[in-house]
Amino acid sequence: MFKRLRRKFGGGGVDEFSTARPGGGPGGIPFDGPLIRLEGIAKTFMLDDVQTHALRDVDLEVERGEFVAVNGPSGSGKTTLLSICGLLEAPSSGTYVLNGHDVSSLKPSARAAARNREIGFIFQSFNLIGDLTVAENVELPLTYLGLPVAERRERVAEALARVDMSERAKQMPSQLSGGQQQRVAVARAVVGEPEIVLADEPTGNLNSHQAETVIELLRGLHESGATILLVTHDPRWQSTVQRAVELFDGTIVG
Ligand code: ADP
Ligand code: MG
Repeated sequence: MFKRLRRKFGGGGVDEFSTARPGGGPGGIPFDGPLIRLEGIAKTFMLDDVQTHALRDVDLEVERGEFVAVNGPSGSGKTTLLSICGLLEAPSSGTYVLNGHDVSSLKPSARAAARNREIGFIFQSFNLIGDLTVAENVELPLTYLGLPVAERRERVAEALARVDMSERAKQMPSQLSGGQQQRVAVARAVVGEPEIVLADEPTGNLNSHQAETVIELLRGLHESGATILLVTHDPRWQSTVQRAVELFDGTIVG
């Protein structure tokens, strides 16, 4: 499932940046280096004249298909690291090479385009849009990909079936339990078949049965080829995670 969209639409990028070309590398040259490479990444926030160094001098490489846990105490920079990897935020300094492309200083529009094509997010608080239906929420990432309506409908139906939420398509998020909302969020994260899925404490607000379902879904995604970065305190992930990165005070310590 994961490669279908890529085959069909690969190389037809509508903007200057595309990691979706066959082979992945710039100009069609196959790129077999790390999918994510961060070098000397720093992120400093300025709030009411107070500087916070959320990340300092972070180096990190993630290979295609890896399942990496990001650990560390509250405030250590885990969410900031995911936001930078996910192109939600630009680093203050340092270099980010995504799939062979330097994306450290992309213009916001190019960053948004790359994000929509390559990255799916799952948040602790689900972040569904309350006045859109389940199906409309899942369809959102596709609106940026320029797919025909029929193709979008088909892909939304597939994604909802995958998380066993087909019969809820027309409901509003507020009519669903937390576990169901998170399943919809998983569908939204994968509907565009992104190469990378970033999950920030995705089971943090779920009961143990709901959490189990979400863990199974992410395991399945990983098995179908997705590269996953996961922030979690939940020990149930242990058997799934291949490697753990430990953050402390904005620095990788292990
Ligand atoms: P974690 O996810 O590990 O709890 P975060 O990445 O959320 O840590 O935050 C790291 C540090 O950066 C914290 O001190 C936090 O207060 C600060 N921070 C995060 N985002 C912002 C922001 N938008 N503005 C100001 N400070 C921020
Ligand atoms: Mg956080």
